[in-house]
Amino acid sequence: MVGRVSLFRIDELYKRYDWRKQLFCRTDINPTFEHYKQEVFERMKEYLEEKKEGYKRIDYALNMAAWKLYEMFKHIPREELHNMGIFHSGDDLPPYEVEDPAAMSRVIKKVASFFGASLTGIARVNEKWIYSHDCQGNPIDMKDYRYVIVMAIEMNPDAMGSSPSVTTAASTALGYAKLSFLTIHVAQFIRYLGYKAMESINDTGLSIPMAIEAGLGKLGRIGLLVTPQFGPRVQICKVFTNLPLVPDNPQGSGILDTCKHCKLCALACEADAISLDDEPSFKVQSPTNNPGVMKWYINPEKCYNFWYENSTDCSTCIEACPYSKIEKKPSSEFWRIR
Ligand code: SF4
Ligand code: SF4
Repeated sequence: MVGRVSLFRIDELYKRYDWRKQLFCRTDINPTFEHYKQEVFERMKEYLEEKKEGYKRIDYALNMAAWKLYEMFKHIPREELHNMGIFHSGDDLPPYEVEDPAAMSRVIKKVASFFGASLTGIARVNEKWIYSHDCQGNPIDMKDYRYVIVMAIEMNPDAMGSSPSVTTAASTALGYAKLSFLTIHVAQFIRYLGYKAMESINDTGLSIPMAIEAGLGKLGRIGLLVTPQFGPRVQICKVFTNLPLVPDNPQGSGILDTCKHCKLCALACEADAISLDDEPSFKVQSPTNNPGVMKWYINPEKCYNFWYENSTDCSTCIEACPYSKIEKKPSSEFWRIR
C-alpha cells in the first residue's frame, strides 16, 4: 500500500499554483499574452474550405454543440448556481445525521455513479493543491471544506481515434458537459442533506493531485491523470464538502514504471510538448509549469500553440497511450451509419 505522504516528491520551491499563470486564464485576462482574447477556432473557415477529413462542417457542428452546456455552466457564479431552481423545500430541515462516515462514503460513490461518474474517490482537502488565486486575482481559501470528492468521467471512445481532428475534439467537449452535469448534481445532493458543498471543474484547485490522493490513478509522462481503467481518457471534476466521509487509500499501479520506458505519448505529439526523459525530474519546461514537484513536466505553451494551428484542441497523446485502449481510425468511421 502506498502511503499518502509518499505519493509526491516535493522540494522547497513548491508554492500553491496561481491560476493567473494558466493558459486559459491568460487568454481571458492577460493583454500581453499572445493568444489574448483569441479563439482556438479562428482558422475554422480556412479549414472548412480545405474540406479535410475530420475538419468538415458536420464535425465543427458536433464539437460546438458538445461545448454548449459547459460554456453556460462556467459563466454562472457559484452562489447564483446554488440559489437557482424552484425546489427549496428541505432548506430548513436539520442536517442528515451521519452515523457512519464509511457508509456515507459508499453512498456518495453510488450517487456519483448514478449521475454519471465513471470513477469516484475521496481525499482530505490538501491546501497544497488549492490555487493561491483565481483567474481574477482573488485569494482562494477552502478552509471550510474538509473533504474533496473527485470524480472522473470516461471520454466517449467512439469519436476518438482520429485526433487531432475536430471529430475527436467533440469527445473532450462532451466530457466537459458531463462534468458540469455531474458536479452540479452531486453537490446539490449534499446540500439537501444539510452540508456545505461546492462544485469545481478546472477552477479552485489542481484536479490531478487531488485525483491521485483520492486513489483514481497516477500522473503519467503525458502530464495527465492516468487511470488503470481508462488510462488518460478521462476528465475530472470535484465537489468540496464538509459532509463526514472517509478518504480513500491510494494503491500502487505500475503506471509510472510503464511510463519510464513507454514514451508513446511523447513520440506521437506533433508539438514536442511531452518529455522524452527516461526519469521524472524537477526540470520545468515553461513559465506555466509550477516548479517543486518531481514529475515529467510538459510544455503547455507548445501544446496550446498547436491547438491554434489545428483550429481545435487535440487528443493525440491520449489516443497513443496504451491504457486508453483506443483504436486509430479515420473520422469517416465515426460518421458511418450502419
Ligand atoms: S494534446 Fe496534442 S499537442 Fe498537446 S501534448 Fe497532447 S499530443 Fe501534444
Ligand atoms: S503513453 Fe506510455 S508514457 Fe505516455 S502516459 Fe501512457 S503509458 Fe505513460
